[in-house]
Amino acid sequence: MNDLKGLRAVVTGGASGIGLATACLLAQRGARVAVLDLDVDAVAPPLAGIRADVGDDVQVRAAVAAATDVLGGLDILVNNAGIGAVGTVADNPDEQWRHVLDINVLGMVRTTRAALPHLRASAHAAIVNTCSIAATAGLPQRALYSASKGAVLSLTMAMAADHVRQGIRVNCVNPGTVDTPWVGRLLDSAADPQAERAALNARQPHGRLVSAQEVAAAIVYLASPAAASTTGTVLAVDGGMAGLRLRPAGN
Ligand code: NAD
Repeated sequence: MNDLKGLRAVVTGGASGIGLATACLLAQRGARVAVLDLDVDAVAPPLAGIRADVGDDVQVRAAVAAATDVLGGLDILVNNAGIGAVGTVADNPDEQWRHVLDINVLGMVRTTRAALPHLRASAHAAIVNTCSIAATAGLPQRALYSASKGAVLSLTMAMAADHVRQGIRVNCVNPGTVDTPWVGRLLDSAADPQAERAALNARQPHGRLVSAQEVAAAIVYLASPAAASTTGTVLAVDGGMAGLRLRPAGN
């Protein structure tokens, strides 16, 4: 399918996991794609790698300018870069709260702010934010991370309202637990990685982790002209975790 031919996309956090799968799918569908990430050494053509920390406004502005130069404009912004945090509300120091909110929430503000003038000039402008099941379900040991993704959900709705009349759609995806290097690192640090993986599999009604490609497919749909009447929505990609209430197996 070549339905995104002529469109130009930027994916933050696009060097790994969900972002990389999204960048590859956008390119496969015909878009020209630039990846903004802390480390772009492994980013290969057809993707253009541009090093930037979404925590730094100067770097973000320079990177978005470089991306729009390379791509010849911008139609799609995927705000995907994010970091995790483990703990209850009692556990994370203020400095960590500031850092995670700075990357996960303000990171999206910075890239969007820099991208808006280019998106306003596009005939098919779309922003997709990577949010999380943690925005809508109470997960243990994720107070700070959940707060950051709750903010992303609200920010998505506010941005959708602010920019709909400029022809810019804004949506987000809420993945469940996705089998990416991030989750691999979490599993590696568990006392019993196999038991931890089994517990994460079991938490999702469809019985397994979500794949990065499944989240990418949802992001690319929301970014594509096929979703031209869809804005201000949340698309769950979580194996049913947010909405289903199953009885125990066999009952
Ligand atoms: P990942 O660690 O595999 O990839 C994240 C990428 O973001 C990395 O390439 C990293 O270098 C980049 N990044 C981190 N901080 C950055 C910064 N300051 N500036 C620029 N780039 C930065 O993680 P992933 O699992 O693919 O997660 C991607 C997004 O999906 C995150 O926003 C995360 O919160 C969200 N998410 C992940 C899961 C999951 O289970 N993996 C579930 C729900 C939501």
